[in-house]
Amino acid sequence: DELAKNADLALYCAKQEGKGQYRFFEGEMDRRMRDWHEMEHDLREAMAQKQFVLHYQPIVELDGNRIVGFEALIRWTHPRRGSVSPAEFIPVAEEAGLINELGVWILDTACTMATAWPEDISVAVNISPLQFNSGSLPGIVAAALARSGLKADRLTLEITEGVFLNDTDQTMAVLDTIKASGVHFAMDDFGTGYSSLSYLRRFPFQRIKIDQSFVRGINDDPESLAIIRAVTTLCRDLGMATTAEGVESAAQADVLRHLGCGLAQGYHFGRPMPGDDTFALFAGHRRRLA
Ligand code: C2E
Ligand code: MG
Ligand code: MG
Repeated sequence: DELAKNADLALYCAKQEGKGQYRFFEGEMDRRMRDWHEMEHDLREAMAQKQFVLHYQPIVELDGNRIVGFEALIRWTHPRRGSVSPAEFIPVAEEAGLINELGVWILDTACTMATAWPEDISVAVNISPLQFNSGSLPGIVAAALARSGLKADRLTLEITEGVFLNDTDQTMAVLDTIKASGVHFAMDDFGTGYSSLSYLRRFPFQRIKIDQSFVRGINDDPESLAIIRAVTTLCRDLGMATTAEGVESAAQADVLRHLGCGLAQGYHFGRPMPGDDTFALFAGHRRRLA
């Protein structure tokens, strides 16, 4: 029994890493699998007990550092695990089939939050590629807008190129339907993964987010600088705005501004914060950061 179980685990790991792979069983696989199932169990409980909250990170116009919106980022504090990173639990939620239900809550909560902000402030919500699989996403987005009363053009959906990997007519139909309703789209983490330029031609994003791994090297690594300069130029010519992610210093912001990058986000301007803390940024003449 144990041999069959272990062979099955090795098979599972091989499949997870793509086609044409083989794996020998290692004890580590067993432990990883148990951790995974435990996380899945805790996630189900977390949904029932409402252990999630959204935090909001400001997005600023580099020309003047004025806030134009916020990105909603999910936070999970588990009674025993403490705070768990979304990079760790979102993949588990995806595989456990929980991401659709979680995604509905995220969209509803973020849209409702945005209605409490000034009218020129928008909200960006991360959408998992799996949320495109069922075809129900346009209805879910429309319902979140209707329930909250948020205007469609104040909502941006951030998607990664994973959405295009299982590129079907259905995926394109879903994207087109949502776009036609007035909702904006941003391509997240651009420059990592396959970064096929054909996506940019097939689907007109309003924004491209340059991954933080390039921004990190901008002041001392000529390759990162060259890539950011090229992406910024490309986006300008395509009529798309660029957002630099992970801006942590004034020096990085200066270079990005100089390159003509329009928007930025990062610890230099503001960390993700609880919804209640966002209001202080609009008080008086604030709205400018850094
Ligand atoms: P992302 O959408 O690319 O989000 C940007 C990540 O960079 C966030 O990590 C943010 O906290 C972090 N960050 C922002 N500024 C800086 C900076 O200056 N320096 C550094 N080092 N990091 C910075 P976070 O919140 O841990 O989220 C990680 C990823 O998890 C997100 O990447 C996104 O892919 C996913 N995620 C987060 N919230 C959600 C959600 O509500 N739904 C879905 N489907 N995915 C989410
Ligand atoms: Mg994002
Ligand atoms: Mg990103």
